[in-house]
Amino acid sequence: MARAWVGLGANLGDAQATVSAAIEALDGLVDTALLRASLLYATPAWGNEDQPPFVNAVACVETALPPLDLLDALLALEARFGRVRDPAVHWGPRQLDLDVLLYGEQVLDLPRLKVPHPFLHERAFVLLPLAEIDPELMVPGHGRVRDIVMRVPTSGIVPIRG
Ligand code: ADP
Ligand code: MG
Repeated sequence: MARAWVGLGANLGDAQATVSAAIEALDGLVDTALLRASLLYATPAWGNEDQPPFVNAVACVETALPPLDLLDALLALEARFGRVRDPAVHWGPRQLDLDVLLYGEQVLDLPRLKVPHPFLHERAFVLLPLAEIDPELMVPGHGRVRDIVMRVPTSGIVPIRG
């Protein structure tokens, strides 16, 4: 069994409901159990800024799926939640985005899967929820989450308390 960290994001439709449902759906993936999840965070739109704000969260799972199988399971979950990829729009709006942030302490540089996620160390909307659930976590090549999060601007990203 391995421990993996999954980043969730949505900014179309009822994004809060989608991210909450997706967190629960992680627990339903084959050979995978949800260990813990962060609060949901509201994040101003990024990348292509002409789109609604995002809801982001991070979840930690224990899984027997090898990394590429976990990726495929997450992509299938995205599709189940109605994500349709528009190849013409990079970093555009999405019903649900699921990323493998970390897979144990593995470093992978495969055509379909880079782990740690290449932008993990510079994205506050990933680092804040990650720091909430796992501040001592080591990101290979970048150090501890609680130290990395100090280096990025986090203004505008707020936990949604409901
Ligand atoms: P992004 O998440 O960067 O906005 P997409 O969700 O459209 O972009 O992902 C496109 C591709 O990125 C996926 O089909 C997948 O093969 C690849 N990819 C590479 N590394 C990862 C990772 N760590 N987690 C998720 N997808 C990844
Ligand atoms: Mg993605």
